[in-house]
Amino acid sequence: MTGIETWRLELDQMFRSNGFNESGQTYSLHDALLTMHGTPGSPAQSIEIGKCPACGVPNVTVAAEDAKCSDCSSALYITDVLRTHDEFAESGSNIVPFTRVMNAAERFLSIGYIDWLYTHAPAALATTLFIQDGPLAFYGTTAPLLRRWLNYWCALNTELTRRGHLPPLVVGVEKSGTFVEHANAIADHIPNGHLMGLDNHYIQTRIRAKNPEKWYGQDEFYGRRFFYKTFTGRMLVVTVPRVPEGTPYNDSKKPGKPPDWHANPKQYPTLRATLEALDRVQTRMYPNAVIPVALAHEAVALPLGTGSHVLTLMAKKALGLP
Ligand SMILES: [Zn+2]
Repeated sequence: MTGIETWRLELDQMFRSNGFNESGQTYSLHDALLTMHGTPGSPAQSIEIGKCPACGVPNVTVAAEDAKCSDCSSALYITDVLRTHDEFAESGSNIVPFTRVMNAAERFLSIGYIDWLYTHAPAALATTLFIQDGPLAFYGTTAPLLRRWLNYWCALNTELTRRGHLPPLVVGVEKSGTFVEHANAIADHIPNGHLMGLDNHYIQTRIRAKNPEKWYGQDEFYGRRFFYKTFTGRMLVVTVPRVPEGTPYNDSKKPGKPPDWHANPKQYPTLRATLEALDRVQTRMYPNAVIPVALAHEAVALPLGTGSHVLTLMAKKALGLP
């Protein structure tokens, strides 16, 4: 196998062997990817990819199991839809494709939990807050998945409304980056318990120093960013999806023209409940963090005390020290 073929196979196996267990059932990232390409409670059986990674023939349908290219017969995987192999370098650190996979996997897991609840306890969706570490967006080669997320989200809310349930609270919380720095820089101008919306012109001219005639976030974001100053005066940079549907970044490029959320706040009906919940789970342990995200990080990281103790023991053993 070439390096790229190895990457693609490993990615497929990683997606099949990781996920979560609930009530004795395993739900893998592979399942979540199919779920996002399907409708709530009914995952897709195959995924359309732009071109075969081996021979380049356009528009190939990849079955969930044992797929082969009809043109060149090479193995195809549904994870090829992430197109991370396009950024894989045979000799290089490959930090970029690794980060893409990690970010996408986190978003798929979130969809997986939503779909699991939808199938087993739909009423519980409305009382659950799904917190994503980072913005609600797909970047780079994974950006086209944005449309899939929006389709799933729209179908989910249509179905929940039909059954008389409220939409789930989904939010992305950022801990670092340009937007967090900007939010902290202007924090003194925002009263506690207040929300600040960001239109295209403001984002491009005040935060990113880019051309305001260009769209921001339209191809990546499935939620809209807001700055929120909590009741204790901490700045949170959050992304919240539109409900029931629609791309969140499509307002005017000109200054002074109100963006969608301003003209029609009903498009973000989960905003108030989301912010009220975040007010209750904010933490002073880490800057810009909320308790669930801090706990998740603690669960996956080497704990400072125990971690260093174990490393010291290992180093002593390796060096033959008493
Ligand atoms: Zn092919």
